[in-house]
Amino acid sequence: MTTATDTTVDLTRPDVHLHIGTDRRADGSAGVYEHVNPATGKVDKIIPLAGPAEVDRAVEIAHEAYKSWRTTSPAERRRLLLRLADLIEANADEFNRRGAMDNGTPRSVVANLTGKSIEWTRYYAGWADKISAEVTSTLTADGEFGYTLRQPYGVIGIIITWNGPLISLAMKIPAALAAGNTVVVKPSELTPFSGELFAELVAEAGIPPGVVNILPGDAAAGAALVSHPKVQKVSFTGGPVTARKILAACAEDMKPAVLELGGKSANIVFEDADLDAACGLGTMMSVGAMSGQGCAFPTRMLVQDSVYEEVLARVTAIAESITIGDPFSPTTMAGPVVNQAAHERILGVIAEAKAAGARLVSGGNARALAGELAGGFFIEPTVFAEVDPYSGLAQNEVFGPVLAITKFSTEEEAIEIANATRYGLSGYIQTKDLKRGLRVAEAMITGEVLINGASNLPVNRPFGGVGLSGVGKEGGFGGIDEFLRLKGIGIA
Ligand code: NAD
Repeated sequence: MTTATDTTVDLTRPDVHLHIGTDRRADGSAGVYEHVNPATGKVDKIIPLAGPAEVDRAVEIAHEAYKSWRTTSPAERRRLLLRLADLIEANADEFNRRGAMDNGTPRSVVANLTGKSIEWTRYYAGWADKISAEVTSTLTADGEFGYTLRQPYGVIGIIITWNGPLISLAMKIPAALAAGNTVVVKPSELTPFSGELFAELVAEAGIPPGVVNILPGDAAAGAALVSHPKVQKVSFTGGPVTARKILAACAEDMKPAVLELGGKSANIVFEDADLDAACGLGTMMSVGAMSGQGCAFPTRMLVQDSVYEEVLARVTAIAESITIGDPFSPTTMAGPVVNQAAHERILGVIAEAKAAGARLVSGGNARALAGELAGGFFIEPTVFAEVDPYSGLAQNEVFGPVLAITKFSTEEEAIEIANATRYGLSGYIQTKDLKRGLRVAEAMITGEVLINGASNLPVNRPFGGVGLSGVGKEGGFGGIDEFLRLKGIGIA
């Protein structure tokens, strides 16, 4: 199914700036980026790009602002961040509009992430005056009094990707600020509009200039930020290829980095599962709502042999019922993928899987739409069955609407297949047998496991993977602790 363009929405693209201290600049030394509307394939806005010179200036200003921000009372930091959360809430509709403009995610789907962003900002505001440390002296034999301090790092370099331009900011910036750090942020050049509004609201909230600096820029700006000697820690969301470069650059100064990377998460469907819920969740998350462009999505479905045919029939029916079209139409369930390169890459993965003998049961092609959307980067929800769990299709992240289904017989086999990738972000288990759910959850080598439910980024549960899925956590106390240095102090 497809939808048409919604002509009632204001599609004016906002201007984008470099936000450095009190400056709001319309140009950058790295030239410009031509932002393309993924739903039409046409350039819709020219974006300025920061170069190393602006990155350097932003870090210097953040370094200066750190001196007073770290001594700003925790209660004041909390107040300012709560004000920011209120402003995000007051501008939720605009963030939903911008999210859809940024990357083509349907506005209704962006709305869920905007709601989450408000929650994350409020949650970490609340941590600002609750950071404590420990007295350690009871553990010493020699009578020394010992204690610890949790201190901010200084300037944090934040680099994010394009699939959740607001939620990625909200998962990092409030925690970093609540802990007393200042930040220089480089959003993805592909998705500049949400970050622009976020920067404006930071100023409106009364957060002092220089505490948050946001610069649209490309890979070179990101590299300049990571290697800047005054950046004390890096927080990155993106892919493993870039993460390796970041780690290599960080090695020079032994700079720590939080790395939130990709995934190839298994969704194990046992024969006693609620199949309505299991198939709905597994299909909509993997090939629906965000066209498969989510790091924690269940993109490998492992199905017990006794219910395999039934699950396959249900998943296929759901995939074929997904309405693809204009991100601004209220009836659209899935929009385009982010850009032409992603469109070509994903169709290439599908072609390779077919050539390698995987059984295509649904989709598998570009979706051609009419009118304004004719040049858009749409791909049919695509389902492969009987996928060899050790094939490229099962092992590599596609980051597009492609689901790989594999059959298993026993619990042991399911665990073995689930753990047989280099990724380890999320794991999903569908069963009515709670004991089995708990057993399998313990055995899965992932950062999180969801039993009979969707990963919906709760603020207080740690999120972050193992293996190629990354290092470090966001969410809960662990998320703010990433932005605090632990120091031990002894008094003789
Ligand atoms: P990417 O790694 O190509 O780019 C991410 C960011 O890094 C962009 O802002 C880019 O400009 C910047 N960058 C590129 N080269 C750089 C360099 N050498 N130094 C510093 N910065 C550099 O990732 P992508 O393709 O934009 O994003 C897709 C990936 O992100 C997927 O793997 C997806 O799973 C992952 N992701 C992870 C999470 C999570 O929280 N775990 C969330 C969303 C997306």
